[in-house]
Amino acid sequence: MQDIGYEGMQKLMNSKVAIVGCGALGSTQAEILARAGIKKIKVIDRDYVDLSNLHRTHMITEKDAIDTLPKAIACKKWIKEIDSSIEVESVIDDFDSTNAEKFLNNVDLIIDGTDNLESRFLINDFSVKYNIPWIYSGVSSWYGNVMFIKPNQGACLRCLIPETNNQNESCDIIPSIGTMTTLVSSISSNLAIRYLAGNEVPYGVLFVIDGRDISLEKIKITKNEKCPTCGLHQYEFLEKKILRNVVRICGTHAIEIRPEKFLNIDFIKKINKIKEKFNVISINKYSIRVQRDTIQIVLMNNGLGIVEGINDVNIAKKLYDELFNIII
Ligand SMILES: [Zn+2]
Repeated sequence: MQDIGYEGMQKLMNSKVAIVGCGALGSTQAEILARAGIKKIKVIDRDYVDLSNLHRTHMITEKDAIDTLPKAIACKKWIKEIDSSIEVESVIDDFDSTNAEKFLNNVDLIIDGTDNLESRFLINDFSVKYNIPWIYSGVSSWYGNVMFIKPNQGACLRCLIPETNNQNESCDIIPSIGTMTTLVSSISSNLAIRYLAGNEVPYGVLFVIDGRDISLEKIKITKNEKCPTCGLHQYEFLEKKILRNVVRICGTHAIEIRPEKFLNIDFIKKINKIKEKFNVISINKYSIRVQRDTIQIVLMNNGLGIVEGINDVNIAKKLYDELFNIII
């Protein structure tokens, strides 16, 4: 293969990538990179598989949704089935300023599989501060964007987008179609493979893909000397103090609740006690889904919980505590 060869293949096999988000974009990117020979892949996602993901997300099945399998676990399972020699690290957690440095430490390239600008600005801060390149990838409706960001050389994401008006905007409310997430994942993975194999890649160039008439435009983004991140080196997203014990998940009737510290819970042992109080819908070693009246709770084995079908934070917290206390 031109531009790769034996040497390029060795480089790919020795590369480590982190993919932030393992939904429609991240799962496709992970699959392409795994099949291309990358041997160390880290996937980060706090969400679990839902039936509504099936139309656009690779690596997941209807059974994964019925089992409420965490996306990071579904991705890991699939990558290992593609090639069992790949080292896959799966992280079930939110990606935020409290853990970004820990999660992205020691990787050669970061790939954006996220669905919100806040996470992308955080990756961008990390990338510029630690001089690790990343690939911005985004999809909305029939449009897609990709940009390879070579920190401290070309434009960064905030040279392109200085601020976000709605930093909490997320995902569940952005429409997307599988053809566009696959197309964007393919372009970003192509850049990743070329870079990791030792080729020059176009950096600071925004690829704009229009899926309606199948057109691709390349726009050169100029590095802004006054850019808060790469010009002034202010890492406000990385340094952001956040309160994250109880968070309303935007675009849904769901509330996320975090334990004081992450644990390793064995649900199966407590199944009879749980059944006395809740209707158990699914259970496996990674997560349990239970129901009471119209409210459902998904609890991951690290203690992270999502209470669905409710807007009242206090009731959500009470139900979470009740389930949590049975299990602990
Ligand atoms: Zn910049």
